[in-house]
Parts: sequence; structure tokens; C-alpha cells
Amino acid sequence: MSRVYNFSAGPAVLPEEVLKEAAEEMLDYKGTGMSVMEMSHRSKAFEEIINEAEQDLRDLMGIPDNYKVLFLQGGASQQFAMIPMNFMKHGVADYIVTGQWAKKAFQEASKYGKANKIASSEDKTFSYIPDCSDLPISEDADYVYICENNTIYGTKYKELPNTKGKPLIADVSSCFLSEPVDVTKYAMIYGGVQKNIGPAGVVIAIIREDMITEDVYPGTPTMLQYKTHADAKSLYNTPPAYGIYICGKVFKWLKKMGGLEEMQKRNEKKAKLLYDFLDQSKLFKGTVVEKDRSLMNVPFVTGDKDLDAKFVKESKEAGLENLKGHRTVGGMRASIYNAMPYEGVEALVAFMKKFEEENQ
Ligand code: PMP
Repeated sequence: MSRVYNFSAGPAVLPEEVLKEAAEEMLDYKGTGMSVMEMSHRSKAFEEIINEAEQDLRDLMGIPDNYKVLFLQGGASQQFAMIPMNFMKHGVADYIVTGQWAKKAFQEASKYGKANKIASSEDKTFSYIPDCSDLPISEDADYVYICENNTIYGTKYKELPNTKGKPLIADVSSCFLSEPVDVTKYAMIYGGVQKNIGPAGVVIAIIREDMITEDVYPGTPTMLQYKTHADAKSLYNTPPAYGIYICGKVFKWLKKMGGLEEMQKRNEKKAKLLYDFLDQSKLFKGTVVEKDRSLMNVPFVTGDKDLDAKFVKESKEAGLENLKGHRTVGGMRASIYNAMPYEGVEALVAFMKKFEEENQ
């Protein structure tokens, strides 16, 4: 068996320990004589899996009791519609557009009410986070929406926007559990798990209880109402059971590693190694304003498309996979999520040094 260093933006690298454990339990989960894939979501064994997963996530993030934790489906993209359908009570919401995913969420919300783009960084190809200390928040806004870590462009909010008392909703798909978080600052935190937590197919939404009501956009399908899933403890219908099981294992792995403080330390150390190299390189260049750099997604370029392509090809041959930048921006991008070991970033930097010497 040979595993590569996988720098994919998602689905992405998972802790090897978790994968091994899942492999060991594949045919017979804890004496049940079946795989988690094969068991009823109403069984006692699965009930324990989902309850433990929720409790471990609550412990890791310090989620207060007045927040629901929901395991949903439909990808993060489905939330782009569910959020306005459930929360645009007055038909107005403010969006800060810092990348493709925030833009998609903004466009989707426009179908259900008046979505206001109150700030954007599109003028400079989303390479920075706008100043959000005094934005023109709409008086009747039902919420303010952000994408906290911009997977494609490699930016991250270092400070949350001043929402002037309006509920804050954040897509944290690509920075989920990468550092400690004060849940009380948000009305809702959500993300697809396929970057930092588990296999694609699960979306986790953490929502303050008072946000969840029956007063939703007319015609909203039962499956797209948060209340449906909150009332049924994520078991209204068959949930993505195997995915939730793997998420649960990752939560236990994170706890064992020392929790989110420790993950932040590790992530800062990994990102520093790569950014320090980029800052002194004569060939490679980071594309993001220094103060807004993400710890998770690091885009960089050589400035020469052919050389970028050569780098992607040769790095793959060296066992460094998925370094090609997003199809909309080109260049390269290294996603260095929780499960990417320090050694993986060391191997990447060593390869970049060698490539730079060979391509002066
Ligand atoms: N939000 C962010 C920040 C993302 O990076 C992505 C995708 N990778 C999405 C939303 C969309 O996720 P999904 O493919 O699960 O719908």
C-alpha cells in the first residue's frame, strides 16, 4: 500500500487512523455482525453512533445547549437555498461576497427575497476580505451571511463582521474544526464535511434554537425545513449514516489529538512553513493579502501558465497530489486540512525548492 500526500480541496485527506479503524470495523461493527453501511438507522448501534457524534462535536466546539446540531444532506450548496427559505422572515438578508461560494449563496437567496450585497472583494479577484467593521447593514435584515474561509481563493476572516446585532450565518465548510470557535457569536454555523471532517454527503448545521420556526417561505418542502430535522434529531428520514459514523470517528480523533486549540497550533505551524517559503521564493508567489491568509487553503502561482502546469505534473509524479488550483483561477493550491501531517507540507516545500532551482 502506498498513500500519497493529498492536497485536495475536498473531498480531502482524512486521518489514516480513522480510515484504518473503519476498515477493521467494515465487516462486523462491534459484534453486530454487519457493517454500519448495512444497519438500520433506527437500530440501537446507530443511535449510539449519532448521539456520540453529536456529543463529541458539542464538546469539541463548546456548543451551548440552546443550539441544535443537525446532520443534513444535499451538500453545502443545498444550504444556499435552505437558509433564505427558513430565515428570511422579513424577506431581506445581507450578504458579504468574498468568493464563488458566497456569491452562489447570495444569488440563490435572491430567489426568495431581497438579498443585499453589502460588501464584496470581487474587484481584486477575491484576494482579500473587505473591512467589515462598519458595513451598511440593512435595518430589516433577517441575517448577515458570510463564507468564513474561501476555499478557492485562500482567504479567511480573522475577525467576524460587525453585524450590528443581526444574526450571523457562516459557511465554514473549509475551516470546520480547524481552530477554536465561539459558537455564541453565530446564529448558525454550517458546512459540508468533505474537507475537514468526513466523507461527502453529510452537512453539519449548528443553529441557535430561536432561529428554527415553522414560519418559512411558502411551499418550502418538508425536507428543506430545519424544524423537520431538529424535531426528529436528524432522523426524520434515512440520514447519511455511514458518513456520520466516519465524522464521529474524526471527532474522537480530534479529541485525542488535544482538541481545537491543539489543531490550531498544528495548522498554524504547517501554514507558516508554506507561507514563509512562498514569501522568500523568487519563483512562487502567494495570491492573497497577507493579513487575510487562510490556514487551510494556500493558492500560489509562478506567473507562467506553462510552468504552473509543469509543476502540477511533476509534483504528482513525486507523490504530491491535487495541487492544481481551482478551474476558475488556475495556478496551484495546497489544501492543508487538519489531517494533512506536517511532514506532508515539508515534502511539498522541499519539492518546491527543488523545482525552483531547476526552473530558474
Ligand atoms: N462552501 C464552500 C466554502 C465550499 O468550499 C464548497 C465546496 N467545496 C461549497 C460551499 C459547496 O459544497 P458542496 O459541494 O458540498 O455543495
